[in-house]
Amino acid sequence: MNEADSENIAAAFRRRGYELTDEIKKADAVVVNTCTVRQRAEDKAISQIGRLRVWKEKRPEGKLFVVGCAAQKLGGKAIKNRFPFVDEVVGAKAIEAFEDSLINQLGPSPETETAHQNLFRSPQTAYVTIMRGCSLKCSYCIVPAVRGPAVFLSADAILKDAAAKIKAGAKEIVLLGQTVNAWRQDKTTFSELLEKALALPGLQRLRFMSPHPVYFEDDFTALLAREKKLARYMHLPVQSGSDRILKLMRRGYTRAQYLALLARLRAGAPDLAVSTDFIVGYPGETEEDFQDTLKLVEEGRFTMAYCFKYSPRSDRPEMAATLGEPEIEARLGKLLAAVKTNSRVILNERIGKIEEVLFETETYGRASGNFAVRVKAGGTPGKMAGVLVEKADKNTLNGKLL
Ligand code: SAH
Ligand code: SF4
Repeated sequence: MNEADSENIAAAFRRRGYELTDEIKKADAVVVNTCTVRQRAEDKAISQIGRLRVWKEKRPEGKLFVVGCAAQKLGGKAIKNRFPFVDEVVGAKAIEAFEDSLINQLGPSPETETAHQNLFRSPQTAYVTIMRGCSLKCSYCIVPAVRGPAVFLSADAILKDAAAKIKAGAKEIVLLGQTVNAWRQDKTTFSELLEKALALPGLQRLRFMSPHPVYFEDDFTALLAREKKLARYMHLPVQSGSDRILKLMRRGYTRAQYLALLARLRAGAPDLAVSTDFIVGYPGETEEDFQDTLKLVEEGRFTMAYCFKYSPRSDRPEMAATLGEPEIEARLGKLLAAVKTNSRVILNERIGKIEEVLFETETYGRASGNFAVRVKAGGTPGKMAGVLVEKADKNTLNGKLL
């Protein structure tokens, strides 16, 4: 979400004739887009802002913007008190009104259009936000507080955005939202939106991120089985393998329900690749709870998992961490090792199979299952081609172009 917001912010600058630079010395404006999902992210944002004091001293006419979730949480006043050299603070809830802040600082915008430019993914891939915020109440999570309740964009706006990005060169679209599959508009379901997006001329592949286990409906399972342009990949965060912890987290599903969902999805799409998120050290997590999580790594057959140490986001005493740092570290280490071993098994199973690869360079591309794929030569950037997988190492499949 932050990457997508950053691209929109960059576009607003480009409409005014600004260009991106990697060299801070050359910058006329700096935007720090902050995250606060874990304390560490917020701390990093704060120290980054602190370091920009030097830039601002050398370039007093330069404009410094602090935006996003940590800005929302800490508040404009607190940030400006601590860092008086900051020109403008725009919290996550007002991020769509970023243009107003730009007008504030730089004057009205010239009415020029800028073609979409990717900053984070390959040039072939473009993000399309379909919902903002989140209306769930996972106990550990700060997102609903800083991004507000779920708001769904209209199907028309979404399809228009996607079509414009395809026109600008995107071959692959990633639909974005915190509970992306919760999207609906009147009678139009998420699956129907996907179908409409899949029909956009020039689109080669459609992805979405992140779905939530409670929102999948039967029409999706059928769509996934039938539509080859719909990526055979899903990042489906599970958080824990313990029913007790899942309940405390208010995730809305049990371990068995999560696994049953995976089975249902894979029944129609056997090659579906699934990655996930885990949190270790949730308040009260026992060794037994943790063992349940370890077991789930194997049962879920995940190709990859982000594993996070629990980070308290509220001051409520019951949300304080109960495990000491060494214990959390030890569990994290075990979990990471299990994920690694398991993903190697899953990757090796792809050997001898044919992957549909969307090439980014002549030798590199991404499979439908999101695996990085390398060939010796012959790929055409922006085009899809079959690759026979011969070898798997680390996170990459190596093979022969067919
Ligand atoms: N909306 C997505 C997740 C968004 S936050 C979903 O519900 O699936 C991205 C990830 O950050 C989460 O999946 C979770 O694993 C992690 N996370 C969120 N809050 C956290 C916290 N307080 N401590 C540690 N990890 C956290
Ligand atoms: Fe946070 Fe995701 Fe839960 Fe929403 S669904 S509260 S974003 S973890």
